[in-house]
Amino acid sequence: MNHNSSIGCVVAECEFHCKDDDYCTLDKIQVVRHGHKAVSVECTDCGSFKKG
Ligand code: SF4
Repeated sequence: MNHNSSIGCVVAECEFHCKDDDYCTLDKIQVVRHGHKAVSVECTDCGSFKKG
């Protein structure tokens, strides 16, 4: 499965997850913050996630 070597990802539930190894298959993703201001890693997420 072709993947983007620049985007590692372990979210196997996502439609765009590379099942062979832990990468994303998209050319580009949008990283988003949950609230007004991000203060820790938990405040950010992948905005391109789509349930597989
Ligand atoms: S779209 Fe986001 S959550 Fe889905 S595989 Fe790519 S990086 Fe992971």
